[in-house]
Amino acid sequence: MSRLPEDPTYPEVAGAAADLDGLDALLVECRACPRLVAWREHVGEVKRAAFSTETYWARPVPGFGDPTARIVVVGLAPAAHGANRTGRMFTGDRSGDFLFASMHRVGLASAPTSVRADDGLTLTGVRVTAPVRCAPPGNAPTPTERRTCGPWLARELEIVEPDVAVVLGGFGWQALLTTLAEQGWQVPRPRPRFAHGAEVRLDGPGGRSIVLLGCFHVSQQNTFTGRLTLPMLDAVLLRARDVAEAPPARST
Ligand code: SF4
Repeated sequence: MSRLPEDPTYPEVAGAAADLDGLDALLVECRACPRLVAWREHVGEVKRAAFSTETYWARPVPGFGDPTARIVVVGLAPAAHGANRTGRMFTGDRSGDFLFASMHRVGLASAPTSVRADDGLTLTGVRVTAPVRCAPPGNAPTPTERRTCGPWLARELEIVEPDVAVVLGGFGWQALLTTLAEQGWQVPRPRPRFAHGAEVRLDGPGGRSIVLLGCFHVSQQNTFTGRLTLPMLDAVLLRARDVAEAPPARST
């Protein structure tokens, strides 16, 4: 099948979006990764027993939150029965419960839980997004899938222009650095390494700067084992809030 640059089912069209609404309208039509399209739709048909009466979203998941956010929280990809079910990032699963409880404590979210896309939750000064927008089998997108999906996050960051990115986990960290490098940001070689508590400032096009803050992912693998605790996550989000209130100076 031929692939046209203007084909709305591919992420090349992301650059044409003038704003976040336009971007999301294009994103939800994307079918560029055959394996992920098949998986997101399969999960939406088979469902988990606890959600058997629900209609799964089963499409690409847009970023969620404040369109003028100074902070973005970057995960990796939607969870099969979380965001792939509800259609909103980190919504409807344990990872989201952990993340939004912390965001509420530090004053970034209006409520401590994120249950459904229409639950009224609002975020102030922050957006939650991901470098891969469709649920992958085993929560593991391939390098090709990560690369293919890059333009969606790239355009979202161009529109929002955040000052701080809280990056959840090493895969998200690498994916974000790749996206920023492709956008012309000065990403050092060797690349800054991911660590919980890592803090890296990057300079980019137009004299812009962004501070990346590393944080262990909010997956149950980390939160059930105590590798990531609530005080640890609170501390990273508070640091993000502080940086956003005194953003890095623009280089001249
Ligand atoms: Fe499109 Fe990204 Fe989903 Fe791939 S993962 S189909 S590029 S939205």
